[in-house]
Amino acid sequence: MRQQLVAGNWKMNKNLQEGLQLAREVIQQAGQYNQVTVLLAPPYIHLPGIFEMLGGNANLKLAAQNCHDEAHGAYTGEVSASMLSSVGCSHVIIGHSERRQYAGETDAILARKVDRVLENDLVPIFCCGEDLQQRESDKHQEVVQSQLSKGLYHLSSEDMAGMIIAYEPVWAIGTGKTASPEQAQEMHAFIRQSISDRYGSNVAQQVTILYGGSCNPGNAKELFAMEDVDGGLIGGASLKASDFSEVIQALHP
Ligand code: PEP
Repeated sequence: MRQQLVAGNWKMNKNLQEGLQLAREVIQQAGQYNQVTVLLAPPYIHLPGIFEMLGGNANLKLAAQNCHDEAHGAYTGEVSASMLSSVGCSHVIIGHSERRQYAGETDAILARKVDRVLENDLVPIFCCGEDLQQRESDKHQEVVQSQLSKGLYHLSSEDMAGMIIAYEPVWAIGTGKTASPEQAQEMHAFIRQSISDRYGSNVAQQVTILYGGSCNPGNAKELFAMEDVDGGLIGGASLKASDFSEVIQALHP
C-alpha cells in the first residue's frame, strides 16, 4: 500500500560505533513520529546491531543499500538478498545512481536484483532519475520511462503494487541543488501515469514514490506537500539525527 515513508541512506559513512550511536539517536528522536515509516539504510556491517536496537518497533525498519543479482555462489565480496533478510532487513535500495555510475549497474542487472529482492519477500526501493545534461536537453521523462520499463515492467501487478520507487535526479544528489516542488511533482505524476499505463490506475495508486536529492529540514515540507510525493530518500541529512528527525516531522500529519 502507498505509504508515508522517509528513508535515510547513510552511503559509505560511519564506522560501527558511530553508526550504532546515530541509530540510537534516530530511534529516540524519530520513534515518536509513528505515522511515518522510517527506514535506516546503513552500510552492511551495521545491519545486525541496528536490527537488535530496533526491537520490533513497528514504524522503524532496516534497509540495505544494495544486493547482488545472483542468489548465492562464487561472488567474492558480495552480499545476497537472502543474507539481508537473515539479518533483519525488510527493504533494499536498488539502482542508486551512484551504483549505476560507479559500479556499472545496467538496467538488466537491476531487473535481476529486483527479482532477487522480491524472491526473499523484501521490498525493493528502485531508484531512477536523469542527469543534468538529460534534464537540460528535455530528455528527463524519456530517461526515467526507460529505467522503469527495463528495470521493473517485467513484474506482476501484485509485485508492482508493493513497489517503492525513488525519483532521484542525479543533478540534485549531494549537490545542495534540489528539484523544485513543481519539478518533483511533475516527475512523480509522470511516473505514476507510466505505471498506470502499464498496470492500470489501481496498481499505480498503490505505489509509493519517494523524492531524493538534497532534501533537508529546510525544503522537506514543501516537497512532501506535493500530491504524488509520498516521502523522501535522504542522503546527507540522514547523517545527523536532529536533521533527519526534522525531515521525518515534515511528513508527519
Ligand atoms: C541519495 O543519495 O539518495 C540522496 C538523496 O543524497 P542527498 O540527500 O545527500 O542528496
